[in-house]
Amino acid sequence: MPSAATDQFGVADELIRTERLLGAHNYKPIDVVLSRGEGVYLWDVDGNRYLDCLSAYSAVNQGHCHPKILETMIEQAGKLTLTSRAFRNDQLAPFYEEIAELTGSHKVLPMNSGAEAVESAIKAVRKWGYEVKGVPEDKAEIIVCSNNFHGRTLGVVGFSTDPVARGGFGPFAPGFKVAEFGNIDAFKSTITENTVAFLVEPIQGEAGVIIPPDGYMKEVREVCTARNITLILDEIQTGLGRTGRLLAEEHEGIVADVTLVGKALSGGFYPVSAVLSNSDVLGVLQPGQHGSTFGGNPLACAIARTAMRVLVEEGMIENSAEQGAYLKDGLENIRANAVREVRGRGLMIAVELDPSAGGARRYCEALKQKGILCKDTHEHSIRIAPPLVIDHDQTDWCLEQFDSVLTALD
Ligand SMILES: *Cc1c(COP(=O)(O)O)cnc(C)c1O
Repeated sequence: MPSAATDQFGVADELIRTERLLGAHNYKPIDVVLSRGEGVYLWDVDGNRYLDCLSAYSAVNQGHCHPKILETMIEQAGKLTLTSRAFRNDQLAPFYEEIAELTGSHKVLPMNSGAEAVESAIKAVRKWGYEVKGVPEDKAEIIVCSNNFHGRTLGVVGFSTDPVARGGFGPFAPGFKVAEFGNIDAFKSTITENTVAFLVEPIQGEAGVIIPPDGYMKEVREVCTARNITLILDEIQTGLGRTGRLLAEEHEGIVADVTLVGKALSGGFYPVSAVLSNSDVLGVLQPGQHGSTFGGNPLACAIARTAMRVLVEEGMIENSAEQGAYLKDGLENIRANAVREVRGRGLMIAVELDPSAGGARRYCEALKQKGILCKDTHEHSIRIAPPLVIDHDQTDWCLEQFDSVLTALD
């Protein structure tokens, strides 16, 4: 159990001081300095153990330092790490085969970070708009949602509706229109003959685990098909088992034209993302028109192959559904005045607190003292997303800590 007392001249304080001094202050982390991870657990430099309820924003769905992914990484790193795409490597084709088979996709574009996958999809879908749909040059429009989160590049923050994410970074690229998330009429009335794509998260993660109304995504799918609009689902956070299904689109009974995956695609070992395409969107890219030095490198491909394999072989997706339902149910049964709503799917859960509760940050600080690492989102929500390998007893233990903190801070 971590102690409440902080050692004034401890290792952690020294490291935090150096970070403050030398680093850009673009994050405000919880002051815990971690040095080891295994499964659902993390240890700080003072040896305190924590249960990770963030999973690096769902990048470590497979648990920290998964032994099989680690083995693959070490083995591949000793053989070949990077060739660039000027040459071929022996891991790329099997990676394509396995991700295509797993997700039912026809074409794959490997990249590194999630934001790069988003940017790549935007490039491809615009080109598709001009070459296939017949949109006049430079007139392509992409519809995005209010409160979206798709990454931090200039292209992406340019269509964010969050003043903190975009403020001071303009001018931004044109060609994006915002429609209210979850509102089918808003989406329909934003469409023009130049709309090439609708880019949306099936569940908005950074916005605070916002699930759209029943039937919304299905209607979106129908409208996109009818109007020849490419439906791009950003499953970088919701994908790969997080919501209790391989892809969150399965809850809606729909199939996207383009699916973006990242984060857990490497189990947290390495930045690996991909654009998956079911239509001819990726087919428009010709040699020289897009690329990435590291995209599709053999180390990334080998790691991703094992990360996908263990997700399926070790039953993590089913476990996410099972433990997620149990955790959500348990959270709903906590009798604390501060809890306004518990929402989520699988192990992607948020507890929304009443605005009078004084903000989620102090709850996260209190949970840290109890040995749970959580992240506050949008001031009043606590996001809970443990690795998908969490077992029943660990879930129970989490519930006890949540109960104790939520009732104690009431
Ligand atoms: C994290 C995230 C991204 C960006 O991924 P990076 O690897 O941080 O660039 C994009 N979309 C969604 C939905 C995400 O959660």
